[in-house]
Amino acid sequence: MFTVKEIMEITEGTLLQGNEHTKITSVHFDSRKLGDGALFVALTGGARDGHEFLPKAAQTGAVAAFVSDEAKARQAGLAKSFALILVGNTEKAFQQIARIHRNRLYLPIAAITGSNGKTTTKDILAHLLSGQKKVYKTYKNFNNHLGVPLSLLQITPDTDAAVLELGMNHAGEIDFLAGMVRPTFSVITNVNDAHIEFFESKEMIAQAKGEILGHTNPQGFACLNQDDELVANLAHLNPGKTFFYHVHHEGEKSRVADIIASNISFDENGSHFIVTTNEGEQFNCFMPLFGEHNISNVLPCIFIAMQLGISTGEIVERLATLSISTMRFERIDGANGLLIINDAYNASPSSMIASIKTFLSIYPERKKVLVLGDMFELGKQSAAYHRQVGEELKTMEGIFEVIAIGNDAKHLAESYGTKAKYFADKEEASIYLETFKSPDIALLLKASRGMALETLLDKLR
Ligand code: ATP
Ligand code: MG
Repeated sequence: MFTVKEIMEITEGTLLQGNEHTKITSVHFDSRKLGDGALFVALTGGARDGHEFLPKAAQTGAVAAFVSDEAKARQAGLAKSFALILVGNTEKAFQQIARIHRNRLYLPIAAITGSNGKTTTKDILAHLLSGQKKVYKTYKNFNNHLGVPLSLLQITPDTDAAVLELGMNHAGEIDFLAGMVRPTFSVITNVNDAHIEFFESKEMIAQAKGEILGHTNPQGFACLNQDDELVANLAHLNPGKTFFYHVHHEGEKSRVADIIASNISFDENGSHFIVTTNEGEQFNCFMPLFGEHNISNVLPCIFIAMQLGISTGEIVERLATLSISTMRFERIDGANGLLIINDAYNASPSSMIASIKTFLSIYPERKKVLVLGDMFELGKQSAAYHRQVGEELKTMEGIFEVIAIGNDAKHLAESYGTKAKYFADKEEASIYLETFKSPDIALLLKASRGMALETLLDKLR
C-alpha cells in the first residue's frame, strides 16, 4: 500500500525511530484488528488513549504507528525496527492517507446516505453485485469520520466495486466524508427526523445530505428518491446526471421516474413487485424482505447494478437470495408458537410508522401486538413526536394491543389512549409480555438502539 517514507510525505510526519523503507500493507486504529505489516493509528479522542496500546499493536504484527505524543510513544519500549511516525493529529493523518489511497483506486464506488435505510441499501447493492464482481462493502455501520477512511483503506486494488455508507449528525460531515470517497454513484434514501436535535429544520437536514452531490463524479450519477420531496429537491446540487426512483402505490397518481416499483404485495416470505425502467424494461421481482421502505431501498440498487452491467435476470435471481442484517425486521420463533418480528435495531418516527404498517399487512391470521420503546435524538420536540406516532396508530386497523416502554414512549401511550399498556422499564414489561406466548399472536419490537429492546427476547423465545 505505502512505504513509511510515502506516509511521512503525505502527513508531514517525523520518523522517531524505524526505517522509512518499511512497507505498510494495512491500516487500523483497533489494536485487536492488526495483521502483519499493519500501521496502527493511536487515536486519542476516545475513552482510552491509543498510545497505551502500542505494545499490543507491535505484538499483533504492526510494523509502524501514527503517534502524536512523543513521550508516551517512547515509553512504550518498542523494538528499534518499529516505525514510529510522529504527526500533529493521528486522526487527521489517518484520513489523509485514506484520501490518497482512494485516489489510487480505479473502481466504481457507490456511496449511500440518507436518514434511514443506509445499511440496508448498502447490503442489498453489495449482494446484487457480488454474483459477478469482487465487492467491498462498509463493515456493519462504519459510516463516520473513522469508519469511512477505514473502509477506504480496506479496499484492495483487485476489488471490482465498492459500496460505502456515509452517516452524519451535523452539517458539513457528509461534505468531508464524500470529499474523501469521491463516489462514482451516490444515493440519498430519504430525509427524516433522525438527528433533528442538531438541526433547525428538515430542510437543513436535507441540505446536509445533499453535500454528497457536489462530490459525485459528473461522469457517474446520483440516484434520488422521488417519493421524498426534500430529497428530490436536491437534484439541482448535482453537477452530473440524476436518476429518480419511485415506489408506486395502487390507486395513487404515478410519478415520472427512471425506475419504478409497482404492483406491490407481501406474503409470509417477503415482497413481490414489478420493476419498470426508463429503458422500457419490465420484470417481476421477489425478495425475502418486508416493508415498503425496503422496496424503496432496493430500487437504486437495481438501477446501479444494471448500469454496472448486471443483467436483469441475474438481478431477479440475486434479489430472491437476499438476507438482511439482524434486528432489521427479523423474524424470530418465540415460545408456544408466538411469532416475533425484531425491528429493534433503531427507530425514528417515520421508520416506526413504516415498520408498523408493514407488520400490520402481513400474518393476517394473527393478532398484532406492538411493543414500542423510546425514540432518541428527537430533541426538544421529542414528546410531540411520540404523541404524533400515538395519534397515527389510532387511525390504523388491525392493532390488537400497544405496549409502550420507556420515558418518552409514555407520551405515545397517552396519545393512543387508555387501551395502551405503559411500562416505565423493560423488567416490568417483560413479565406482562409472557402472557402473549401463543400461536395466535405476532409481536413487533421497535425502538431506538439505546433501548436495546431485543433483551426482551430472552424470556419470549
Ligand atoms: P443508521 O443511521 O443507524 O446507520 P441506517 O440508515 O443505516 O441507520 P438501516 O440500518 O438500514 O438504516 O435501517 C434502520 C431501520 O430504519 C430499519 O430497521 C427500518 O425500520 C428503517 N428503515 C429502513 N429503510 C427505511 C426507509 N427507506 N424509510 C424509512 N425507514 C427505513
Ligand atoms: Mg447504518
